Amino acid sequence: MKKKRSILINNPQLRKIRNNLRLLLMRWASREWNLLNDKETNLSYDEEGRPRHPSTYSEKEKSERIRLSSQMDKNKEIVKNSICVCYRCPATGKNMTYNPIEKAWFCFQCYEEMKQWTAKKKTGISVRFP
Ligand SMILES: [Zn+2]
Repeated sequence: MKKKRSILINNPQLRKIRNNLRLLLMRWASREWNLLNDKETNLSYDEEGRPRHPSTYSEKEKSERIRLSSQMDKNKEIVKNSICVCYRCPATGKNMTYNPIEKAWFCFQCYEEMKQWTAKKKTGISVRFP
């Protein structure tokens, strides 16, 4: 998205549906992250449960660990930049505003705080939070 956009839902029933969908997506993402983490952990320990030294990894295992780690980072980044959670605080059940400069969603309170915090003293205008 290239423009600032706010999604405001006032109807309590619609808010409940929205919040439940957000939680569902976040739980799914969390489960996916845990599966990737389990795979990476399995590679990091030998059959007797001892941590393996990185020098003992085969080339295939090294690239698999890099792939898993990269996928886990992407997974976290997708959730962090989604409308499911505020980029700045852990809020999940609030109305959100998209900031095209930060490429992230913020709850209204955080957006206003960031707008004030980043405003230039002379003009009172924030370039980063329009
Ligand atoms: Zn927030």
